[in-house]
Formats: sequence, structure tokens, C-alpha cells
Amino acid sequence: MSLLGASEIRALAASLDLKPSKSLGQNFVIDANVCRKIVRTAGVTSTDVALEIGPGLGSLTLALMEEAHSVVAVEIDSRLATQLPITAKLHSDHPETLTVINQDALSIKELAFAPTVLVANLPYNVSVPVFLHLLEVLPTLRTGVVMVQAEVADRLAAKPNTREYGIPSVKAAWWASVTGAGSVSRSIFWPAPNVDSKLVSFTRRETPGDEELRKKVFAIIDLAFAQRRKMLRSALSSMYGGSGAAEKVLSAAGIDPTLRGEALDIAAFCKIAQQGLES
Ligand code: SAM
Repeated sequence: MSLLGASEIRALAASLDLKPSKSLGQNFVIDANVCRKIVRTAGVTSTDVALEIGPGLGSLTLALMEEAHSVVAVEIDSRLATQLPITAKLHSDHPETLTVINQDALSIKELAFAPTVLVANLPYNVSVPVFLHLLEVLPTLRTGVVMVQAEVADRLAAKPNTREYGIPSVKAAWWASVTGAGSVSRSIFWPAPNVDSKLVSFTRRETPGDEELRKKVFAIIDLAFAQRRKMLRSALSSMYGGSGAAEKVLSAAGIDPTLRGEALDIAAFCKIAQQGLES
């Protein structure tokens, strides 16, 4: 398998008359070694069905095809989705192991392929919603590595009582444990973005409850972080019909009503939601 470097990426883009779109977060990786490293970090093996979101011109896709049993790539840009199987035929001995789907990742409801591992350089502007959506709708995804804007990576992997801890951290924790997996230089992209990037890896864990509980937990999380500086009893007052009622629910759940959302881990949010569901 020959991977794509800077000159191949530029030549491919020129042949497609492609001007990278900012709104679609089109910053293509031009360093084959980085692509191999990402695939290694994700621990992809020959039994894995790998899911890639936003394969672009195929840098990471070809590296994934070297290791995975098969690769499913979901790309919103039809020009890129049309070109990718052609590129795979030119560079891989097993182009039939790649399936390209021309779709918005946020509209995925299910996939016929039961992907086991997610490996993606996610489009920056939708990285959090896409990541959370995939965890929600694709329960066969057990692990993965995604490249995102550095600040977003820090938020996804953040622990309570830190500045970075917020809605993405605690919602991701419902499905998975998420950890930082290193920084990536701006120089490996074309065009070079004006933000730094980092990798995060995740491993799915058993969810703390069913869909009814998750919806309630997520509604509480949204309220708790809507105004970060508010104490929980006032942040949740609209949900429980006043701060006195919210205080009662919090106390019954064993949570100090004067805390702020940033102090609670996912287990504590679940305790509040369970209390609310029971009362
Ligand atoms: N994986 C390629 C690489 O590393 O060189 C390209 C990554 S680029 C940061 C993001 C890719 O996601 C682009 O190809 C873009 O067209 C695609 N994309 C943007 N929004 C998308 C969405 N909602 N669903 C699927 N693909 C999307």
C-alpha cells in the first residue's frame, strides 16, 4: 500500500479543482507517518471494521485499510466521496475492503457494517456533535481515536473541577472514558489550520442507565452548565419548579445544593436524575 504525501494530496486536489472548504473543515493530512501513528494509537487490528468520518482525499483511509479488516468512510462532500474509491484502487491491493458513504455524519441512524473502531480527523466545526452522535447511535463502536481542535480535545477529556470541564466532557462520559492522546503539529495539514490539534482516545464503558435516564441526565447537564457560576439549586430551579424544590431533589440525591455543575461527575448527575424520576 502506498500512502498519500504532500505532493499526492496537492495533485489530487488540483485534478478535482478542489478549493478546500473552511465551512466543511477541510484540512487534509499530508504526512503519511502521522496517519500510521494515529491508526497505531487506535490499536486497529485485522478483525476491526473501522469507521472514518470525513475521509477527505484519503490520507487516513489508506493507513486504516493497511490494518483493518474493512473500512467504512462517511463523507459529506460528494466530489470527495466519488473520488475516494478511485484513489483506493490506485493505492491498495484490496480496494474492495473500503465502503464510501456520501452522507452527513450527523444524519447517520445506523450502519449495516457494525463498526468496531472509530478513527477520524473530525471536521472542526461539528466535532463534538458528531462524536457524541456516533457514540449514541453506533453501540458496536467500542474504541477509537479522533483528531480535534486542541481546546475541544481538552474539553472532551476534562475531569470535574477544572476550567475545561463542561457539557462535552460529562456527556461523553455517559458512554465512554476519554483521554488525551497527544498533540499534532499544524504543519502536517494542507491547508495549515489556524488552530492547534490534538488526539483523544476513547473506550466505551457500560452506560449508567437506559434512554429515559440518559435524556433526563442530559437535560440536567444542559441546565447545570447554561450558567456555569450558578449553584445547582438555582441552575435547576426551572426543571423542578423553584429553587426550594430543586434543593430538596439535590439533598435527597446526596448532592450539596450549593455546588456548581462543574463539581459533579456523570455518576452524580445520574443520582440527581434518578431522584427526579422517582419523585
Ligand atoms: N480525513 C481527511 C484527512 O485527515 O486528511 C480529511 C479531514 S478534514 C479535517 C474533515 C473532512 O470531513 C472533510 O473531508 C470534510 O468534507 C468532511 N466533513 C465535513 N463535515 C462533515 C459531516 N457533517 N459529515 C461527514 N463528513 C464531513
